[in-house]
Amino acid sequence: MSTSQRSESIHHFFDGFVTTKTTLSEFVTKYVMSIECRFEAENHANLKSLDTEAYLRTSSPFEKQAAGIYTRSMFNKFQHELLEGAGCQPQFIEANGPCVTLRLKSFERVQIKGVTKDLQKMNTVTYNKDSAEVECTCRSFQFRGYLCRHAMWALQYCGVEKIPDKYFLNRWRKDLRYREGLEASVVREEDRKHPSSRYTILIYRLMKVAQEASSFESQFDHLLAEIPNILLNVMQSKKVTSVQIDNRNAQHNAPERTV
Ligand SMILES: [Zn+2]
Repeated sequence: MSTSQRSESIHHFFDGFVTTKTTLSEFVTKYVMSIECRFEAENHANLKSLDTEAYLRTSSPFEKQAAGIYTRSMFNKFQHELLEGAGCQPQFIEANGPCVTLRLKSFERVQIKGVTKDLQKMNTVTYNKDSAEVECTCRSFQFRGYLCRHAMWALQYCGVEKIPDKYFLNRWRKDLRYREGLEASVVREEDRKHPSSRYTILIYRLMKVAQEASSFESQFDHLLAEIPNILLNVMQSKKVTSVQIDNRNAQHNAPERTV
């Protein structure tokens, strides 16, 4: 990745949070806010992938394959990359044994500080048919964890119909997320901090309960009768917690007594 490409990614990441007038201490606060906002948005998008089909915008087998594997937030990034492949102009360079090398000129639209810019880029992609490895000079897979438009273009050029499995990282596979959500007996500390993460974990676990309980009518009836009690418990403990917080705030804000 070139310095300008890295700079574009950084600008994109902080877009809307940081300006040239932001001080260092404000920067730290806004950095945390920026990460949390993205975290919440990704969680929300990933929940959607559990019960809705991704909208396919092409007839590409790559898009269909990715829709079945990726969490929704990751699929959206992948789909954008695939569609942007339309702006690539390939040039065959050489075929050397199992390796095919292409050079791709691409026209890419990027947002820098809220301003849209059109850039021309040149990248070289090599595909090794024997090892099913594809490498691009933009190093998208190494830096972002998913294949770039150039690599996908080269795979299609070489007649590959399925992206090799190793290019779908475990951390963005919805089947693994779902399984981890069900099997993890300990909830990670960072997942406790965000309401949307807590919500996602509960949904995963409750889905499993629903799956099991719906198999037999007696279990279904039993669970259905239990739900109002669980809800009542949650509402009561919520009330107790908010009273405790109010009391703590009142003590904290009370003026100090002078003797
Ligand atoms: Zn690339």
